[in-house]
Amino acid sequence: MPDVVVIGSGVVGAACAYYAARAGLTVTVVDRGPVAGGTTGAGEGNILVSDKGPGAELDLATLSARLWRDLAAEVAGGAERPFGDLVEYEPKGGLVVAETPGILNALTGLADRQRVHGVTAVAVPPEDLRAYEPHLAGGLAGGVHYPQDAQVQPMLAAAHLIRLSGARTRTGAEVTGLLRGAGGRVTGVRTARGDIPAGAVVNAAGTWAGEIAAFAGLTLPVLPRRGFILVTEPVPPLIRHKVYTAAYVAGVASDDAGLETSAVVEGTKAGTVLIGASRERVGFDRTVSLPVLARLAAQATALFPRLADVRVIRTYCGFRPYCPDHLPVIGADRRTPGLFHACGHEGAGIGLAPATGRLIAAAIGGAEPPVDPAPFLPGRFAA
Ligand SMILES: Cc1cc2nc3c(=O)[nH]c(=O)nc-3n(C[C@H](O)[C@H](O)[C@H](O)COP(=O)(O)OP(=O)(O)OC[C@H]3O[C@@H](n4cnc5c(N)ncnc54)[C@H](O)[C@@H]3O)c2cc1C
Repeated sequence: MPDVVVIGSGVVGAACAYYAARAGLTVTVVDRGPVAGGTTGAGEGNILVSDKGPGAELDLATLSARLWRDLAAEVAGGAERPFGDLVEYEPKGGLVVAETPGILNALTGLADRQRVHGVTAVAVPPEDLRAYEPHLAGGLAGGVHYPQDAQVQPMLAAAHLIRLSGARTRTGAEVTGLLRGAGGRVTGVRTARGDIPAGAVVNAAGTWAGEIAAFAGLTLPVLPRRGFILVTEPVPPLIRHKVYTAAYVAGVASDDAGLETSAVVEGTKAGTVLIGASRERVGFDRTVSLPVLARLAAQATALFPRLADVRVIRTYCGFRPYCPDHLPVIGADRRTPGLFHACGHEGAGIGLAPATGRLIAAAIGGAEPPVDPAPFLPGRFAA
């Protein structure tokens, strides 16, 4: 019997498995689909501190950015190359640009507040923007450079974290219920392919985590926020950083259910350029929306006019798991002993995965948490 069964093989479940194993626990990961077949397979892979205002999530993000950097440098599990090479880790930094002096003012104000919390943010005057990004459009008011921002290939990251954890992996096994012991304690999971008893259960089922909580009679308000990505044909290096407009920061924090788009552009090691980002609350609707795609393309070419000559080869969408207060749910569910949640990371689950894994491993093992876990605890939804 494993010490821990993790439901979900996305990047969050993978990080939970990895850090639980590092803490000396034996782990089984169970997923109804393939590894990283959920939202992790539909993300961009940015590890951002730049888009978060001061608060609990920024503290988690700065810790996580550091953990990704440490992980990237490790050579483990019989690999000949550092983990960072295996998962296409790129410490490329982010460049946030402002279209108008008013927006620049708000952006530099945010940067001032972030610096107090350990974020490195360098103001970039308009005449210097092209030194960072030679193909950027003219007429921008300025920007801020965030060297701590980085990028990974999320599916590779999930797969390698699970591999390094040594966890037993049961894919194609849907969790259909929770095993309960004395006092209602969760003692494992029931799957379509048999029961898996375990010392503790981690609910890392992403946008579907509310369904797992419901098996224990609990309410966990994790809902889908759809996002589309455009992928271009491979091109020679064109974009050096993760580049986005300041409007993205407002979009991330917004409570608006309607469609929001802002230009977010980055190259990848494969040469493709990823173009986002849209946000809308339309349930689990996968219908391709041409108006959304057209808007994303127009915003990206306004930022990088050279992209107008580059073909889009595919598009995909995914469902960010969001909670009403825009904070992830991490930690023990005091309502049901034996059950831990690691979900609800919205558009930041890739970035926040290692810090989440550390928090979960500490919670299960009774160790000192690496950051204050209180703001993320599931108990906040108890009422
Ligand atoms: C367009 C887009 C762009 C994004 N870009 C970024 C980005 O640049 N940076 C960033 O940090 N984040 C980004 N995100 C968000 C990020 O992708 C998510 O926060 C993250 O992938 C969530 O990971 P997860 O492991 O919690 O969930 P998932 O990856 O969805 O994993 C959950 C897993 O649980 C499994 N599961 C569910 N129910 C059951 C069940 N009953 N039984 C068994 N298994 C079950 C699913 O099959 C799935 O594999 C983006 C998201 C989108 C949509």
